[in-house]
Amino acid sequence: MTQMLEVDDCGVSDFIMMDNIDMQSFMNNLRLRYSKGKIYTYIGEVVVSVNPYRNITIYEKEYVDKYRGREMYELPPHIFALADSSYKAMKRRARDTCIVISGESGAGKTEASKIIMRYIACVTGEQQEVERVKNILLQSNCILEAFGNSKTNRNDNSSRFGKYMDINFNFNGDPVGGHLNNYLLEKSRVVHQQYGERNFHVFYQLLCGGSDARLKEFGLVRDPYTYSYLDQSGQFAKVDSINDKSDFRGVENALRTMGLTDMNETLWSVLAAVLHLGNVKFEESSQTDQCMITDPSTLSLLSKLLEVDEGELEKALCGRVVAARGEVLEKKHSAEEAKYGRDAFAKAIYDRLFSWIVSSINQCIDLKTVSKKNTTTIGVLDIYGFEIFDQNSFEQFCINYCNEKLQQLFIELVLQQEQREYNEEGVPWVHVDYFDNKIICDLVEQQHIGILSLLDEACLNVGKITDAMFLDSMSDKLANHKHFTSRKLSPSDKSLQFHRDFRIRHYAGDVTYSVDGFIDKNKDTLFQDFKRLLFNSKNKSISSMWPEGSSSVTSVTKRPITAGTNFKNAIISLVDHLVSKEPYYVRCIKPNDDKSPVHLDEERVKHQVMYLGLLENVRVRRAGFAFRMPYQRFVGRYKMITLETWPNPSCQLPQATKLIINELSLDDDVLYGKTKIFIRQPKTVFALENARNQ
Ligand code: ATP
Ligand code: MG
Repeated sequence: MTQMLEVDDCGVSDFIMMDNIDMQSFMNNLRLRYSKGKIYTYIGEVVVSVNPYRNITIYEKEYVDKYRGREMYELPPHIFALADSSYKAMKRRARDTCIVISGESGAGKTEASKIIMRYIACVTGEQQEVERVKNILLQSNCILEAFGNSKTNRNDNSSRFGKYMDINFNFNGDPVGGHLNNYLLEKSRVVHQQYGERNFHVFYQLLCGGSDARLKEFGLVRDPYTYSYLDQSGQFAKVDSINDKSDFRGVENALRTMGLTDMNETLWSVLAAVLHLGNVKFEESSQTDQCMITDPSTLSLLSKLLEVDEGELEKALCGRVVAARGEVLEKKHSAEEAKYGRDAFAKAIYDRLFSWIVSSINQCIDLKTVSKKNTTTIGVLDIYGFEIFDQNSFEQFCINYCNEKLQQLFIELVLQQEQREYNEEGVPWVHVDYFDNKIICDLVEQQHIGILSLLDEACLNVGKITDAMFLDSMSDKLANHKHFTSRKLSPSDKSLQFHRDFRIRHYAGDVTYSVDGFIDKNKDTLFQDFKRLLFNSKNKSISSMWPEGSSSVTSVTKRPITAGTNFKNAIISLVDHLVSKEPYYVRCIKPNDDKSPVHLDEERVKHQVMYLGLLENVRVRRAGFAFRMPYQRFVGRYKMITLETWPNPSCQLPQATKLIINELSLDDDVLYGKTKIFIRQPKTVFALENARNQ
């Protein structure tokens, strides 16, 4: 049973068993295993996963049965083993756990999260309510991916939002409810995509898969390039790895399974409205330089789809009302302003639609039969990975900041806590050094002097402050920061080609951002007129997405929190939430940039191993002790090994542990901490396990 952890022609299944802990040995082992189709390897309880870029048959029922209820070290590494560990901790020890999946874009996080969910669904009960909850948990992915994922230049199915799903289990260990949190959807994609990328999948799904009748009803044609929002920078609607038509059916089925069919009409008509909105053009009348809509026929279609008054819609698109000293004035836009307003409107409509979908899913899986305090949870985090594009903007800045925070969490929980544990347990220990990325988190989030604070300051300024001025203020205030530079600070730096560039030295690599659009995206302004318009929609669902539209023109509105600060607060509260749970880690690695199932790009992989801190992880784990167990659990598991009559009331738990260890003469390889036994080598655990099985 335990031979699985030993060296065979597939290399070592736990990196802590390498003869030498250095990059070359790590890479040799990873490459060897990858070439044999072994995509998972452990570092203690951490699972390192390399994206296979092909279907491998290791997720079928027989594998579920094999891993169910077993200990991680008993069988070859598998993500099922990690899922099962987390499930056991939840079920047997009533611990709230979380599974944090990290890695760069395309490394396999979303796939891993789905595999984990399917495993949990497989090993739990089949009562009607449990089945219902499981179906929703599984099916919701398909809807969320349609609306929240997109083809990028890094990944054909890239998550453009962050997702954290808590699953609540009853005392039987069956899922009885759940809750989804979503983080900052990259809504700018609705109106603009980089060369080679697509808009969100769902637009193409609707155009490919919608019935003729439905498309006609919505005034849509199948050709995506008819729509300006799908024809931004090159024509890349067709993607080999994606079947939009069948994915559309998948979404419709999922809506049906979840009992959300009544959402159908609203979903598709709002999407159609977004597409039509992108085609609304404005022209300025030669006398007044005030704008009008070039083709007013689109207006009636839009008003039908959004169920709003056509005249009001036209007014909101072409101008705005402002209240000044109690008076209400109408102010007309220039064509440029109107176009800006239209795009802001389209982005906001889509963003609200997405949030509405998430809250509808939540309503379906909210705990119904059990109160929250009687449940234990497993949380699964699948967020957008670290990314570097040719052009990086505010969105990449937020995404990469979020990845910094997750790396910081890993450092705190895995590297620092482990070393702290040795200290607390009084175990002798030589400190292992690692790069602590807290300095980069601070660079972004610190009050007053962090980038987000400087950005907010710029946005608060009532005068005409530009992105360039914001960049200047960063260059002044962050001039001495080791992880920040700008064109102004390093004029000879070739990678800072443009005046508007600045660069952050992230834990995962240098990223050059263009400051263009930062202020605008952070302010995230949407004219009140649009909010009032949609609040007054006759469609109840659409109206419910815009509650703040109920306030009157003259009421004083508070300045809304900026997008950056909102995101920061959400991520900080996510991290607080994760810290309160027992963490399990999956570290995903992207083998190459060509989606090749056979090629492991040495340099790319090395770089990831380095920045993920995997070698340090092995060192901390190995220089110390591969296994540890609280005395109580140890005695519980291995008490049958000794011939001692049990329980021996005079025997304390640490003494009992010693008794068992001495009986097998394993004394050399263990250390006794204050509350736990520490075991240096896996072979000692094998010996214990073998003795237990005999
Ligand atoms: P992003 O940060 O961009 O969302 P990600 O880490 O979530 O990226 P995935 O979407 O999970 O990446 O994976 C990218 C692609 O790699 C998948 O669409 C799939 O084709 C392939 N892939 C990943 N993991 C596996 C796996 N375990 N088995 C088979 N294919 C996989
Ligand atoms: Mg993903």
